[in-house]
Amino acid sequence: MAGKKQIESAVSAQDPLKQKGLSVTDSRRKILQLFMQQKGALSHGDIEKKAGATFDRVTIYRTLQTFLDKGIIHAIPSANNAILYALCHEQCGPDHHDHQHIHFICSRCKHTFCLDHSVTPDLHLPKGYQAQDIDVLVKGVCKRCNTTSK
Ligand SMILES: [Zn+2]
Ligand SMILES: [Zn+2]
Ligand SMILES: [Zn+2]
Repeated sequence: MAGKKQIESAVSAQDPLKQKGLSVTDSRRKILQLFMQQKGALSHGDIEKKAGATFDRVTIYRTLQTFLDKGIIHAIPSANNAILYALCHEQCGPDHHDHQHIHFICSRCKHTFCLDHSVTPDLHLPKGYQAQDIDVLVKGVCKRCNTTSK
């Protein structure tokens, strides 16, 4: 019980739902909590597994769509075509995602991470091409797997 309270107060301390002008519903709050408790990214399937008993597929899908539209989460392309989602930072807003970070897929634990402090590399595009959004996906071994498997 104490653990649950802590999570709720952590969410309301900087409640992205309120920041983005969204009304707080059970599904939005619950799914947001899942993202906040998770270090890596989540797929639709992961969320269904964790919240599927409480909310149906359609509710989960709609909630994710709202979060994407409002700049609360962003979609990450993954190797096996399953789209992953991760929390955004405060500078993201409706119709505007501002990311300069790299996504990292661990080949051992299969988790995907947002590497916030790594800036996407400079691109040298041919004349006439203008980049608007850069997705960098790096594959390798994450910090945790690197230190636990020796
Ligand atoms: Zn974003
Ligand atoms: Zn790993
Ligand atoms: Zn990310």
